Amino acid sequence: SAKAAGRNAVHFFEPQMQKTLSERASLETALRQAVADGQLRLMYQPQVDQAGNIHGAEVLLRWLHPSLGLLSPDRFIALAEETGLIIPIGQWVLEQACFQLQQFSQQPAMADISLSVNISIKQLRHPDFTRQVQTILSATRAPPQRLVLELTESDLVDDIEGCSHKMAPLRQTGVQFALDDFGTGYSSLAYLKKLPLDQLKVDQSFVRNVMHDQHDAAIVRTVIVLARALNLNVLAEGVETAEQLAFLQQQGCHNYQGYLFAQPLPLTDLIAMKQNQMHTLNRFTLSA
Ligand code: C2E
Ligand code: MG
Ligand code: MG
Ligand code: MG
Repeated sequence: SAKAAGRNAVHFFEPQMQKTLSERASLETALRQAVADGQLRLMYQPQVDQAGNIHGAEVLLRWLHPSLGLLSPDRFIALAEETGLIIPIGQWVLEQACFQLQQFSQQPAMADISLSVNISIKQLRHPDFTRQVQTILSATRAPPQRLVLELTESDLVDDIEGCSHKMAPLRQTGVQFALDDFGTGYSSLAYLKKLPLDQLKVDQSFVRNVMHDQHDAAIVRTVIVLARALNLNVLAEGVETAEQLAFLQQQGCHNYQGYLFAQPLPLTDLIAMKQNQMHTLNRFTLSA
């Protein structure tokens, strides 16, 4: 009946849901505008080796929203993926990262830094992905071997063959590939040998409890052993305490990223941190 339909309609457009829908719509409009208006920002989180030297940084996207302030990707990446906006956004991130890599290659303190860029599965699936990355690399004259593309484990498992075909030509030119959030996505490991990979990133959810949860400690140990056995670099994400670092070092983890070393930083802070470290190391070497 009309009354029932009316009741359903009223039920459907609950105030909270109406609010959520219109918030989403206005966020979408604003995100479209953000790309055009240059409201996107990049932060750089240092990655360090066993000696504590910065060898790279992960490029992390932020949106400087005119009224909401600085938004983290959890607030807008899913929306960007649903609306297709991730394609121009992802393109912009890659262009910025490659431009920066070219700049770094001219500065002695920065020349050996690599940049890790998060790639959404929507980007990778785009028929033109491989060519677009190649075009950006040659247009910016960035050294390809300093570019690391991070793919998420759970994204790849649906189409291992297709993904590895997209990755292979890039890897041949020197681009590296990392598997992000490793351990959270899938239980079978057979696909690991089919993908042209360079690095596994141990998910921070395991690192977080490594001192208090035997199972998480066992998973972290196992991932490190697995990576080393497969000749892959292994990086631990979300390292926050000296105890976690000591545990990871003991297990033979190669690289580290987390608040213990640095938060995601503006570019100038990353450069300053790396330059300071260079000076410290030089002094150390000279006095030794
Ligand atoms: P992710 O790639 O796993 O990045 C690591 C996240 O952990 C970052 O969050 C980083 O700020 C945070 N983090 C780093 N160290 C620590 C720590 O010690 N403790 C804790 N609790 N967290 C730490 P962020 O910047 O909010 O990014 C969240 C996610 O958004 C990223 O996870 C990545 O999946 C996605 N993302 C970021 N930038 C981009 C981008 O340019 N494109 C795409 N497609 N996704 C992006
Ligand atoms: Mg990542
Ligand atoms: Mg991660
Ligand atoms: Mg992630």
